[in-house]
Amino acid sequence: MRRLSLKTRLSLWFTLILTLICALMLLLAAAVYQNFDRRLLREALTDAVQEEAARIGDDRSYADHMGELREAEFLRGEVRLMVYDEDGAQVAGLYLGEGTDALPFSDEDAVRELTLDGQRYYCCDAQVRIRRGPDYWVRGVVPAGRSLWSALRGHFAPLALLPLLIALAFLGGRWLTGRFLRPIRDIDRTTEAIRESGDLSRRIPCADTGDELSDLARHINAMFERLEQNFHAERQFTANASHELRTPVSVILAQCEYGLENAQDAQELREVIAAVQKQGGRMSRLIETLLLFTRMEQSTERYRKAPTDLSALLRASCADHALIAPRGITIRQELSDGVTALVNPELFRLLLDNLLGNALRYGREQGTVVVSLQQTAQTVTLCVSDDGPGISPEDLPHIWETFYRADKSRSSRGLGLGLPLVRQIAAYHGGTVSVESTPGVGSTFRVSVPA
Ligand code: ADP
Repeated sequence: MRRLSLKTRLSLWFTLILTLICALMLLLAAAVYQNFDRRLLREALTDAVQEEAARIGDDRSYADHMGELREAEFLRGEVRLMVYDEDGAQVAGLYLGEGTDALPFSDEDAVRELTLDGQRYYCCDAQVRIRRGPDYWVRGVVPAGRSLWSALRGHFAPLALLPLLIALAFLGGRWLTGRFLRPIRDIDRTTEAIRESGDLSRRIPCADTGDELSDLARHINAMFERLEQNFHAERQFTANASHELRTPVSVILAQCEYGLENAQDAQELREVIAAVQKQGGRMSRLIETLLLFTRMEQSTERYRKAPTDLSALLRASCADHALIAPRGITIRQELSDGVTALVNPELFRLLLDNLLGNALRYGREQGTVVVSLQQTAQTVTLCVSDDGPGISPEDLPHIWETFYRADKSRSSRGLGLGLPLVRQIAAYHGGTVSVESTPGVGSTFRVSVPA
């Protein structure tokens, strides 16, 4: 069975609480009213009895005409009065039954309770002393207040409207809750639509009301935005990687075919194998680098960080690159000793090799590559500058993207993964990267990591 909607459940809950509060307030009001009503009745009873006693005491000829008095004269509001002689025989007033007559008189001015035919009454007596004549007793009787229910019915008649008001509160509450919860319905619909269609470009329509639900919708939209970007980047990455692998695979297949069908001698076969080896090496580098990206994203276990002497690491990398520096390029080191940071030496060496490799590859003939290391209290900054052709302003924002190559003809040997890898390694160490480049003057790459 389908459960009640959140809207209905919330409205029901608050209506129930409202009803309980109303019922409690009503009971309280009725109890107070009943108490008050009782006190008024008792006062009215004693007043009526005292008045009647005084009337009889003042009226010397009372005995002569008491038989002619009409019944209405013994009814004061709800109080009924009876007059008895000193022997207890009723001589005037209303007759309520033997039960009333049988009750012994009390001259203590006290209000007593008695039950007649199942109905509770208050009763009060007063003795009238007549000089030189017989005494009388005046007795007053009044029904002992109303029950709680009759009090409610009598004076709280407008309460009949209460169920209507509660129903209105329920419907109003339901409508309001529905309005408040509308963003949740929108969120539900949008996420369901995204799940069904896989279309991450959908967004939750959210009014900027500034409440928690509009904040939630905004945050979910931001999350979708991020997911969409990541998804797009991932797809682009896969497409680029496949594209990059396809070229060497095609070359290898073509070389193999040529070797099998057309190679005339061992020398020609050796050339074919060398071409295959070159493309295999390129594929291997590509796959290694892609794996490195994935490993860095997934695990921190594999690349443990340790306090590392960056000066020594940099010197070693410079020495290695100096041996293979092309076109008469020299490397100048501006390093102070003993600069250390908490890094993974293997990854950091890779970062240095990529920056130095680029500087040598794109540097000017007979030019100079300057490598420096600066340390402050918080950071260690590595700079690699060259005096090569620089990077055009159009390319500059893109050089950190995977597989981006600014000048295809000049850098056709590169994979377009070096700088993205540098950025990824810096980020892995909680650091940042930046570049300054002036076309025709040179480029300076900076990597800062926490000291
Ligand atoms: P690649 O393998 O092509 O060098 P990178 O990611 O290392 O890939 O570099 C991306 C692009 O940035 C290169 O294709 C190149 O055009 C440009 N670039 C990188 N370093 C330099 C540099 N020192 N001088 C000029 N251009 C550079």
